[in-house]
Amino acid sequence: MDMRIIRNKHTPPRRKSKQIQIGGVKIGGGAPIVVQSMTNTFTHDIMSTVRQIKELEEYDCEIIRVAVPDMESARAIRGIKKQISIPLIADIHFDYRLALAALESGADGLRLNPGNIGEPEKIKKVVLAAKERSVPIRIGVNAGSLPKTSVKKSIPERMVAAAMEQVELLESLDFDLIKVSLKAFDVPTTIAAYKAIADKIPYPLHIGITEAGTPRTGVIRSSVGIGTLLYLGIGDTIRVSLTAHPREEVIAGWEILKSLDLRQHGPVLVSCPTCGRAEVDIIKLAQQVEAELAKVKKPIRVAVMGCAVNGPGEAKDADIGVACGKGRAILFKKGKQVGVIAEKDILRVLMGEVKKL
Ligand code: SF4
Repeated sequence: MDMRIIRNKHTPPRRKSKQIQIGGVKIGGGAPIVVQSMTNTFTHDIMSTVRQIKELEEYDCEIIRVAVPDMESARAIRGIKKQISIPLIADIHFDYRLALAALESGADGLRLNPGNIGEPEKIKKVVLAAKERSVPIRIGVNAGSLPKTSVKKSIPERMVAAAMEQVELLESLDFDLIKVSLKAFDVPTTIAAYKAIADKIPYPLHIGITEAGTPRTGVIRSSVGIGTLLYLGIGDTIRVSLTAHPREEVIAGWEILKSLDLRQHGPVLVSCPTCGRAEVDIIKLAQQVEAELAKVKKPIRVAVMGCAVNGPGEAKDADIGVACGKGRAILFKKGKQVGVIAEKDILRVLMGEVKKL
């Protein structure tokens, strides 16, 4: 799969951040924005977890995070790592000893929630062990589990303050392999928090909208939140959180990056919304083409348009496309007609042309 960075001249410049490396994957410092996800298997069930990660690798998930709720899960990381190709991050809540065990098992990164790890002494132990192994730590602040404060502050301010406290603790231990996230369910709150911290620290930012929901609403919520931040130049790695199989998160993540022309990833389908001029079932045809394109790796633009009057012109950037009419379709390349296809052959001929590109 071609997954280069692309630049659209209308996209604002990205925030400059310090580069860190999770396993072999670079984050920040101008590196491509990385797509990550999280498994939803029991981490101690090595076979199921590896199976799920391998499936996510096929969808080009670039980093995977696993929950580490107990020692058995922390120890399972060693067995999982042997069988997967992408870096693995251990997600730790409450018990710092799990972080130490995950590092021992070869985790490439840690995610800690400062709101629930507890005393600085415990965090210090984890930081020293991570430093020994050059393993980065993500300070993952969630709006739902903020440490209590005596001073009255807004939620974004409290999120930033919680992250800054931990950043300063890590820096005081001479540790700078830091990544930060400030997630909330509420999109404006999340954007405000990230905007506020972006100027305060040099570290890369992991962005996402937490507990975004099921695919139908969660993808929209995440796209608005992550998309807005990325458009502002903020964000070095993304995770779309969905109540769904994690493959949906990876697919959505790539689509967000493609929409903003930040990365290239396989084909883009251009299809018209159809209107009273369409004389072919464009909804069905577009769905069939989309399913076929899922097997194509080339970064091409393919159009399915409902009429020959406006279709070729509206989709003139497409590498290949069809503009359908009564009983037949015009085949066009970059807006220019190159052939005519009988209605029953549209899908077959179009996909044949896609293969030739
Ligand atoms: S391409 Fe034709 S059918 Fe499709 S929306 Fe435009 S005018 Fe209507």
